[in-house]
Amino acid sequence: MIYRQYGQTDKEVSIIGFGGMRFLEEDFQEGNYEKCAELINYAREKGINYFDTAPLYCDDQSEKILGYAFSQMKKDFFVATKTSTHVTGDKTSDDVLRRIETSLSRLKIDKINFMHLWCVLDYDMFERYTQKGGLFEGFLKAKARGLVEHIALSTHASGEDIEKMLETELFEGVLLGYNATNFAFREKGLEAAKRLKRAVVTMNPLGGGLIPQRADYYAFLKQNAEDTVAKAAIRFNASHPEITVTLCGFSNKEQVDEACEAIKDLKPITDAEKLQIKSHLKASLNNVCTGCGYCDDCPKGIAIPKLMDAYNQYIITDKEEDILRRIKNHWQIKAEKGGALQCTACGKCERACTQKLPIIERLREISAL
Ligand code: SF4
Ligand code: SF4
Repeated sequence: MIYRQYGQTDKEVSIIGFGGMRFLEEDFQEGNYEKCAELINYAREKGINYFDTAPLYCDDQSEKILGYAFSQMKKDFFVATKTSTHVTGDKTSDDVLRRIETSLSRLKIDKINFMHLWCVLDYDMFERYTQKGGLFEGFLKAKARGLVEHIALSTHASGEDIEKMLETELFEGVLLGYNATNFAFREKGLEAAKRLKRAVVTMNPLGGGLIPQRADYYAFLKQNAEDTVAKAAIRFNASHPEITVTLCGFSNKEQVDEACEAIKDLKPITDAEKLQIKSHLKASLNNVCTGCGYCDDCPKGIAIPKLMDAYNQYIITDKEEDILRRIKNHWQIKAEKGGALQCTACGKCERACTQKLPIIERLREISAL
Protein backbone atom coordinates (compact mmCIF):
# COMPACT_ATOMS: atom_id res chain seq x y z
CA MET A 1 0.00 0.00 0.00
CA ILE A 2 1.09 3.56 -0.62
CA TYR A 3 0.36 6.27 1.96
CA ARG A 4 0.01 10.01 1.47
CA GLN A 5 -0.20 12.84 3.97
CA TYR A 6 -3.76 14.13 4.42
CA GLY A 7 -3.35 17.84 3.58
CA GLN A 8 -1.33 19.56 6.27
CA THR A 9 -2.37 17.18 9.02
CA ASP A 10 -0.11 14.57 10.62
CA LYS A 11 -2.19 11.70 9.16
CA GLU A 12 -0.69 9.27 6.65
CA VAL A 13 -3.63 7.73 4.83
CA SER A 14 -3.74 4.87 2.33
CA ILE A 15 -4.23 5.99 -1.26
CA ILE A 16 -7.01 3.43 -1.62
CA GLY A 17 -9.88 4.20 0.73
CA PHE A 18 -12.73 1.92 1.79
CA GLY A 19 -16.04 3.39 0.65
CA GLY A 20 -18.69 2.00 2.99
CA MET A 21 -21.66 2.41 0.67
CA ARG A 22 -21.58 -0.84 -1.29
CA PHE A 23 -22.09 -3.59 1.28
CA LEU A 24 -24.42 -6.19 -0.19
CA GLU A 25 -27.89 -6.33 1.31
CA GLU A 26 -27.69 -10.08 1.81
CA ASP A 27 -24.51 -9.55 3.86
CA PHE A 28 -26.08 -7.28 6.47
CA GLN A 29 -29.60 -8.62 6.90
CA GLU A 30 -31.14 -8.73 10.37
CA GLY A 31 -28.18 -6.99 11.96
CA ASN A 32 -25.80 -9.84 11.18
CA TYR A 33 -22.67 -7.97 10.17
CA GLU A 34 -20.13 -10.80 10.33
CA LYS A 35 -19.48 -11.07 6.58
CA CYS A 36 -19.12 -7.30 6.16
CA ALA A 37 -16.75 -7.19 9.15
CA GLU A 38 -14.63 -9.86 7.49
CA LEU A 39 -14.39 -7.67 4.38
CA ILE A 40 -13.43 -4.62 6.45
CA ASN A 41 -10.74 -6.61 8.27
CA TYR A 42 -9.46 -7.95 4.96
CA ALA A 43 -9.09 -4.42 3.59
CA ARG A 44 -7.24 -3.35 6.75
CA GLU A 45 -4.87 -6.32 6.37
CA LYS A 46 -4.17 -5.13 2.81
CA GLY A 47 -3.04 -1.79 4.27
CA ILE A 48 -6.21 0.27 3.75
CA ASN A 49 -6.53 2.61 6.72
CA TYR A 50 -9.06 5.19 5.45
CA PHE A 51 -12.72 4.22 5.94
CA ASP A 52 -15.47 6.45 4.57
CA THR A 53 -19.11 6.18 5.57
CA ALA A 54 -22.21 8.30 6.15
CA PRO A 55 -25.62 8.10 7.75
CA LEU A 56 -28.18 6.59 5.32
CA TYR A 57 -25.69 4.50 3.34
CA CYS A 58 -26.84 0.88 2.96
CA ASP A 59 -30.28 1.45 4.48
CA ASP A 60 -28.66 3.50 7.24
CA GLN A 61 -26.62 0.47 8.32
CA SER A 62 -23.15 1.45 7.04
CA GLU A 63 -21.95 3.27 10.18
CA LYS A 64 -23.24 0.41 12.34
CA ILE A 65 -21.53 -2.20 10.16
CA LEU A 66 -18.21 -0.37 10.36
CA GLY A 67 -18.67 0.10 14.12
CA TYR A 68 -19.21 -3.62 14.54
CA ALA A 69 -15.96 -4.34 12.71
CA PHE A 70 -14.04 -1.52 14.43
CA SER A 71 -14.97 -2.80 17.89
CA GLN A 72 -12.88 -5.90 17.15
CA MET A 73 -9.97 -4.11 15.48
CA LYS A 74 -6.80 -2.39 16.66
CA LYS A 75 -7.49 1.38 16.47
CA ASP A 76 -4.90 2.16 13.82
CA PHE A 77 -7.17 3.51 11.07
CA PHE A 78 -9.01 6.72 10.17
CA VAL A 79 -12.74 7.25 9.84
CA ALA A 80 -14.65 9.77 7.75
CA THR A 81 -18.38 10.45 7.98
CA LYS A 82 -20.74 13.25 7.00
CA THR A 83 -23.81 15.37 7.64
CA SER A 84 -25.78 18.19 6.02
CA THR A 85 -29.24 19.73 5.93
CA HIS A 86 -30.60 18.47 2.66
CA VAL A 87 -29.42 14.86 3.07
CA THR A 88 -29.77 14.18 6.80
CA GLY A 89 -32.05 17.09 7.70
CA ASP A 90 -29.66 18.64 10.25
CA LYS A 91 -30.37 22.38 10.33
CA THR A 92 -28.78 23.81 13.46
CA SER A 93 -25.47 23.42 15.24
CA ASP A 94 -27.26 21.39 17.94
CA ASP A 95 -28.60 19.03 15.25
CA VAL A 96 -25.04 18.56 13.99
CA LEU A 97 -23.74 17.84 17.49
CA ARG A 98 -26.48 15.26 18.03
CA ARG A 99 -25.69 13.70 14.64
CA ILE A 100 -21.99 13.46 15.48
CA GLU A 101 -22.75 11.84 18.83
CA THR A 102 -24.96 9.29 17.06
CA SER A 103 -22.23 8.58 14.49
CA LEU A 104 -19.64 8.12 17.24
CA SER A 105 -21.83 5.68 19.10
CA ARG A 106 -22.64 3.72 15.93
CA LEU A 107 -19.00 3.66 14.82
CA LYS A 108 -17.82 2.71 18.32
CA ILE A 109 -14.98 5.22 18.26
CA ASP A 110 -14.35 8.25 20.48
CA LYS A 111 -13.57 10.78 17.74
CA ILE A 112 -14.23 11.20 14.05
CA ASN A 113 -11.01 11.85 12.18
CA PHE A 114 -12.58 13.55 9.14
CA MET A 115 -16.05 15.08 9.49
CA HIS A 116 -17.57 16.23 6.21
CA LEU A 117 -20.03 18.97 5.43
CA TRP A 118 -21.94 16.73 3.07
CA CYS A 119 -23.06 17.03 -0.53
CA VAL A 120 -22.62 20.76 -1.06
CA LEU A 121 -24.04 21.23 -4.55
CA ASP A 122 -22.87 24.78 -5.28
CA TYR A 123 -21.48 27.96 -3.77
CA ASP A 124 -24.93 29.29 -2.76
CA MET A 125 -25.58 26.19 -0.71
CA PHE A 126 -22.11 26.50 0.83
CA GLU A 127 -22.90 30.09 1.88
CA ARG A 128 -26.19 29.03 3.47
CA TYR A 129 -24.51 26.23 5.42
CA THR A 130 -21.65 28.37 6.68
CA GLN A 131 -23.54 31.55 7.55
CA LYS A 132 -23.49 32.77 11.15
CA GLY A 133 -25.77 30.67 13.33
CA GLY A 134 -25.92 27.94 10.67
CA LEU A 135 -25.09 24.28 10.89
CA PHE A 136 -21.37 24.74 10.26
CA GLU A 137 -21.06 26.12 13.79
CA GLY A 138 -21.89 22.60 14.99
CA PHE A 139 -18.77 21.34 13.22
CA LEU A 140 -16.63 23.94 14.97
CA LYS A 141 -18.16 23.15 18.37
CA ALA A 142 -17.61 19.41 17.84
CA LYS A 143 -13.98 20.08 16.96
CA ALA A 144 -13.52 22.30 20.04
CA ARG A 145 -14.94 19.45 22.17
CA GLY A 146 -12.54 16.91 20.63
CA LEU A 147 -15.32 14.88 18.98
CA VAL A 148 -13.98 15.69 15.52
CA GLU A 149 -10.34 16.04 14.48
CA HIS A 150 -10.50 17.57 11.01
CA ILE A 151 -13.31 19.27 9.08
CA ALA A 152 -13.64 18.51 5.39
CA LEU A 153 -15.94 19.41 2.55
CA SER A 154 -17.89 16.85 0.52
CA THR A 155 -19.12 18.37 -2.71
CA HIS A 156 -20.54 17.78 -6.16
CA ALA A 157 -20.00 21.39 -7.23
CA SER A 158 -18.02 22.55 -10.26
CA GLY A 159 -14.24 22.95 -10.01
CA GLU A 160 -14.69 26.75 -9.97
CA ASP A 161 -17.07 26.65 -6.99
CA ILE A 162 -14.84 24.17 -5.16
CA GLU A 163 -11.93 26.57 -5.56
CA LYS A 164 -13.96 29.38 -3.94
CA MET A 165 -15.04 27.12 -1.07
CA LEU A 166 -11.49 25.95 -0.36
CA GLU A 167 -10.19 29.50 -0.44
CA THR A 168 -12.28 30.24 2.67
CA GLU A 169 -9.80 27.95 4.50
CA LEU A 170 -12.63 26.36 6.51
CA PHE A 171 -11.66 22.86 5.38
CA GLU A 172 -8.57 20.69 5.63
CA GLY A 173 -9.63 18.44 2.80
CA VAL A 174 -12.22 17.97 0.11
CA LEU A 175 -14.14 14.88 -1.03
CA LEU A 176 -15.26 15.15 -4.64
CA GLY A 177 -16.43 13.00 -7.53
CA TYR A 178 -13.59 12.52 -10.00
CA ASN A 179 -13.02 9.91 -12.65
CA ALA A 180 -11.78 9.32 -16.16
CA THR A 181 -15.12 10.55 -17.48
CA ASN A 182 -15.86 13.76 -15.57
CA PHE A 183 -12.39 14.95 -14.54
CA ALA A 184 -12.41 18.09 -16.67
CA PHE A 185 -15.46 19.33 -14.71
CA ARG A 186 -13.53 19.27 -11.40
CA GLU A 187 -9.94 19.95 -12.50
CA LYS A 188 -9.96 23.50 -11.13
CA GLY A 189 -10.93 22.17 -7.70
CA LEU A 190 -7.98 19.81 -7.75
CA GLU A 191 -5.61 22.59 -8.74
CA ALA A 192 -6.93 24.78 -5.91
CA ALA A 193 -6.49 21.97 -3.36
CA LYS A 194 -2.91 21.49 -4.48
CA ARG A 195 -2.14 25.21 -4.27
CA LEU A 196 -3.74 25.49 -0.81
CA LYS A 197 -2.20 22.19 0.40
CA ARG A 198 -5.57 20.59 1.10
CA ALA A 199 -6.20 16.84 0.95
CA VAL A 200 -8.28 15.52 -1.94
CA VAL A 201 -10.33 12.36 -1.52
CA THR A 202 -12.07 11.22 -4.68
CA MET A 203 -15.27 9.22 -4.83
CA ASN A 204 -16.86 7.44 -7.73
CA PRO A 205 -13.72 6.43 -9.69
CA LEU A 206 -15.85 4.07 -11.81
CA GLY A 207 -18.36 6.74 -12.86
CA GLY A 208 -21.29 5.13 -11.03
CA GLY A 209 -20.51 1.82 -12.77
CA LEU A 210 -20.62 3.38 -16.24
CA ILE A 211 -16.92 2.73 -16.92
CA PRO A 212 -16.89 -1.06 -16.29
CA GLN A 213 -20.33 -1.35 -17.90
CA ARG A 214 -18.89 0.06 -21.13
CA ALA A 215 -15.55 -1.71 -20.93
CA ASP A 216 -15.30 -1.68 -24.75
CA TYR A 217 -15.60 2.09 -24.92
CA TYR A 218 -13.17 2.74 -22.04
CA ALA A 219 -10.54 0.23 -23.18
CA PHE A 220 -8.25 3.18 -24.01
CA LEU A 221 -7.64 3.62 -20.24
CA LYS A 222 -5.83 0.28 -19.98
CA GLN A 223 -2.06 0.24 -19.73
CA ASN A 224 -1.75 -3.53 -20.14
CA ALA A 225 -3.90 -5.96 -22.09
CA GLU A 226 -4.54 -8.01 -18.93
CA ASP A 227 -5.90 -4.98 -17.01
CA THR A 228 -9.59 -4.75 -16.30
CA VAL A 229 -11.13 -1.40 -17.16
CA ALA A 230 -12.13 -0.99 -13.49
CA LYS A 231 -8.50 -1.42 -12.45
CA ALA A 232 -7.38 1.10 -15.08
CA ALA A 233 -9.99 3.60 -13.89
CA ILE A 234 -8.86 3.29 -10.26
CA ARG A 235 -5.23 3.70 -11.37
CA PHE A 236 -6.23 6.84 -13.29
CA ASN A 237 -7.38 8.52 -10.05
CA ALA A 238 -4.59 7.19 -7.82
CA SER A 239 -1.89 8.29 -10.28
CA HIS A 240 -2.69 11.97 -9.61
CA PRO A 241 -0.15 13.03 -6.95
CA GLU A 242 -2.61 15.68 -5.73
CA ILE A 243 -5.27 13.02 -4.98
CA THR A 244 -4.67 11.79 -1.46
CA VAL A 245 -7.20 8.94 -1.35
CA THR A 246 -9.19 7.17 -4.07
CA LEU A 247 -12.33 5.78 -2.47
CA CYS A 248 -13.64 2.49 -3.80
CA GLY A 249 -16.99 1.09 -2.71
CA PHE A 250 -16.26 -2.55 -1.88
CA SER A 251 -18.74 -5.44 -1.85
CA ASN A 252 -16.29 -8.35 -1.83
CA LYS A 253 -12.64 -9.29 -1.33
CA GLU A 254 -11.97 -9.57 -5.08
CA GLN A 255 -12.72 -5.88 -5.45
CA VAL A 256 -10.29 -5.06 -2.64
CA ASP A 257 -7.64 -7.13 -4.44
CA GLU A 258 -8.39 -5.41 -7.74
CA ALA A 259 -7.99 -1.93 -6.20
CA CYS A 260 -4.74 -2.91 -4.47
CA GLU A 261 -3.38 -4.36 -7.72
CA ALA A 262 -4.33 -1.17 -9.56
CA ILE A 263 -1.73 0.81 -7.62
CA LYS A 264 1.19 -1.55 -8.21
CA ASP A 265 4.07 0.24 -9.99
CA LEU A 266 2.05 3.45 -9.86
CA LYS A 267 3.53 6.35 -11.81
CA PRO A 268 2.33 9.97 -11.63
CA ILE A 269 0.03 10.82 -14.50
CA THR A 270 1.38 13.51 -16.85
CA ASP A 271 -0.48 16.41 -18.45
CA ALA A 272 0.18 14.83 -21.85
CA GLU A 273 -1.49 11.59 -20.71
CA LYS A 274 -4.49 13.53 -19.41
CA LEU A 275 -4.76 15.35 -22.72
CA GLN A 276 -4.64 12.05 -24.53
CA ILE A 277 -7.48 10.68 -22.40
CA LYS A 278 -9.49 13.84 -23.03
CA SER A 279 -9.05 13.39 -26.76
CA HIS A 280 -10.65 9.95 -26.44
CA LEU A 281 -13.61 11.30 -24.56
CA LYS A 282 -16.37 13.12 -26.30
CA ALA A 283 -16.84 16.53 -24.72
CA SER A 284 -20.40 15.54 -23.85
CA LEU A 285 -19.10 12.79 -21.57
CA ASN A 286 -18.53 15.46 -18.92
CA ASN A 287 -22.29 15.44 -18.78
CA VAL A 288 -23.02 11.84 -17.98
CA CYS A 289 -25.20 10.82 -15.07
CA THR A 290 -23.11 9.22 -12.35
CA GLY A 291 -26.07 7.39 -10.82
CA CYS A 292 -25.67 9.13 -7.44
CA GLY A 293 -29.46 9.13 -6.95
CA TYR A 294 -29.79 12.58 -5.37
CA CYS A 295 -32.51 13.49 -7.89
CA ASP A 296 -34.56 10.42 -7.11
CA ASP A 297 -37.54 12.08 -5.41
CA CYS A 298 -39.75 13.04 -8.32
CA PRO A 299 -43.33 14.01 -7.33
CA LYS A 300 -44.55 12.17 -10.44
CA GLY A 301 -42.61 9.03 -9.54
CA ILE A 302 -40.36 9.23 -12.59
CA ALA A 303 -37.39 6.86 -12.35
CA ILE A 304 -34.92 9.65 -13.13
CA PRO A 305 -31.56 7.93 -12.42
CA LYS A 306 -32.61 4.94 -14.54
CA LEU A 307 -33.73 7.12 -17.44
CA MET A 308 -30.56 9.20 -17.20
CA ASP A 309 -28.54 5.98 -17.21
CA ALA A 310 -30.32 5.03 -20.43
CA TYR A 311 -29.44 8.45 -21.85
CA ASN A 312 -25.78 7.80 -20.92
CA GLN A 313 -25.74 4.95 -23.42
CA TYR A 314 -26.78 7.37 -26.16
CA ILE A 315 -24.02 9.83 -25.18
CA ILE A 316 -21.46 7.06 -25.60
CA THR A 317 -22.75 5.38 -28.74
CA ASP A 318 -24.59 8.22 -30.52
CA LYS A 319 -27.39 5.74 -31.22
CA GLU A 320 -30.82 6.91 -30.05
CA GLU A 321 -32.17 3.37 -30.19
CA ASP A 322 -29.75 2.48 -27.34
CA ILE A 323 -31.85 4.66 -25.01
CA LEU A 324 -35.01 2.67 -25.65
CA ARG A 325 -33.18 -0.65 -25.60
CA ARG A 326 -31.81 0.14 -22.13
CA ILE A 327 -35.19 1.39 -20.84
CA LYS A 328 -37.06 -1.67 -22.11
CA ASN A 329 -34.56 -4.49 -21.67
CA HIS A 330 -32.43 -3.42 -18.73
CA TRP A 331 -34.69 -1.25 -16.60
CA GLN A 332 -38.04 -2.51 -17.88
CA ILE A 333 -39.74 0.85 -17.38
CA LYS A 334 -43.16 1.35 -18.92
CA ALA A 335 -44.15 4.73 -20.40
CA GLU A 336 -47.25 4.95 -18.20
CA LYS A 337 -45.43 4.25 -14.91
CA GLY A 338 -42.15 5.95 -14.05
CA GLY A 339 -41.69 7.05 -17.66
CA ALA A 340 -40.44 10.36 -19.05
CA LEU A 341 -43.87 11.39 -20.38
CA GLN A 342 -45.14 12.15 -16.87
CA CYS A 343 -42.67 15.02 -16.32
CA THR A 344 -44.30 18.38 -15.47
CA ALA A 345 -40.97 20.24 -15.66
CA CYS A 346 -41.25 21.32 -12.01
CA GLY A 347 -37.44 21.49 -11.83
CA LYS A 348 -37.02 19.70 -8.48
CA CYS A 349 -34.68 17.07 -9.90
CA GLU A 350 -32.46 19.59 -11.71
CA ARG A 351 -31.97 21.56 -8.51
CA ALA A 352 -30.82 18.36 -6.78
CA CYS A 353 -28.65 17.01 -9.60
CA THR A 354 -25.00 16.69 -8.59
CA GLN A 355 -23.83 16.87 -12.22
CA LYS A 356 -26.09 19.82 -13.12
CA LEU A 357 -27.62 17.80 -15.93
CA PRO A 358 -30.44 19.18 -18.11
CA ILE A 359 -32.75 16.39 -16.91
CA ILE A 360 -35.98 17.96 -18.19
CA GLU A 361 -34.57 18.42 -21.68
CA ARG A 362 -33.29 14.83 -21.73
CA LEU A 363 -36.67 13.54 -20.56
CA ARG A 364 -38.28 15.48 -23.44
CA GLU A 365 -35.90 13.81 -25.88
CA ILE A 366 -36.72 10.40 -24.40
CA SER A 367 -40.47 11.18 -24.58
CA ALA A 368 -40.12 12.13 -28.24
CA LEU A 369 -38.57 8.73 -28.93
S1 SF4 B 1 -38.82 18.13 -13.45
FE1 SF4 B 1 -39.98 16.31 -14.10
S2 SF4 B 1 -38.64 14.60 -13.58
FE2 SF4 B 1 -37.89 16.38 -12.48
S3 SF4 B 1 -38.83 16.23 -10.44
FE3 SF4 B 1 -40.14 17.54 -11.73
S4 SF4 B 1 -41.67 16.17 -12.63
FE4 SF4 B 1 -39.99 14.88 -11.83
S1 SF4 C 1 -29.41 12.79 -12.86
FE1 SF4 C 1 -27.93 13.88 -11.59
S2 SF4 C 1 -28.63 13.62 -9.46
FE2 SF4 C 1 -29.70 12.13 -10.74
S3 SF4 C 1 -28.53 10.26 -10.57
FE3 SF4 C 1 -27.79 11.34 -12.39
S4 SF4 C 1 -26.09 12.62 -11.71
FE4 SF4 C 1 -27.19 11.94 -9.87
